[in-house]
Amino acid sequence: MPARLTKLKRTGTPRRQAAKSAVADPRKRLLRVLALLEANLGTPVWDGPKDALEVLVLTILSQNTTDPNALRAYQNLAAKLPAAPTGKDLALLPRDAGGNVDKVKLRLSDAARAVEAPDWPRVAALSPPALAELIRQAGLPQSKSASILAALHWLHRATGGYRLEAAMQAMGVEAVMAALSGLKGIGVKTIGVTLIEALGADLCPVDTHVHRILNRLAIVDTGANRDRTFALLKPMLPAGRAFALHHNLLTFGRSVCLAKAPHCGDCVLRRLCPSRQS
Ligand code: SF4
Repeated sequence: MPARLTKLKRTGTPRRQAAKSAVADPRKRLLRVLALLEANLGTPVWDGPKDALEVLVLTILSQNTTDPNALRAYQNLAAKLPAAPTGKDLALLPRDAGGNVDKVKLRLSDAARAVEAPDWPRVAALSPPALAELIRQAGLPQSKSASILAALHWLHRATGGYRLEAAMQAMGVEAVMAALSGLKGIGVKTIGVTLIEALGADLCPVDTHVHRILNRLAIVDTGANRDRTFALLKPMLPAGRAFALHHNLLTFGRSVCLAKAPHCGDCVLRRLCPSRQS
């Protein structure tokens, strides 16, 4: 275990108690976190509707890997099985100073806006191993190809096409999400990300960053159970603030509250945080 994490473990208990007593109510602590993050990182706002199937597939590809890896796999799939161009513009992807895709700023919604989608009927006709080969850069290619194919096949059975919006119109959003969540590899987080990015739903999906940071801040105490974090967070959040919290926690988790060596000395939340390291 890295030295800094060992130190965190040794010093965690008294600090945890001190910070908890400073703002003992988890909801009040959450509101302070929301305000501090927005003061320092801005208030991200939803940038409008996107194709829900594209967001869903990108989100499946992003499971257990970084967004840049998911983007690479998606681009490879679209390059090998291209659909007719729709005028999307790669210039919409955020770039760092070196001209590479910005790993901190990249959002899956950027990819859905900037990258032409693959030809879904041809993707659906692939065998699981053939699709796995095309999305290998995202990792876990066998399970991800099975999830993507299950979603495509379900959608085609339900609507005769490959528009998730058509299924939502015909069946209702809740019914579509319930059907998708019954498919292997499509869980609460994947559905939540699809809903907020494609439709602007007022939810804060719980990915690895959101889960880690909320536990470190003792806003929740949910061990490894991300779905429990989502369930506890939902009623604590004021209406209309979930999108900003989700995106700011992603940025914060990628740049400051890193999984292995958090930059507690530079952290604007340190006074609130029972897990801070000296
Ligand atoms: S980076 Fe901030 S939020 Fe994360 S553990 Fe350190 S003090 Fe807490």
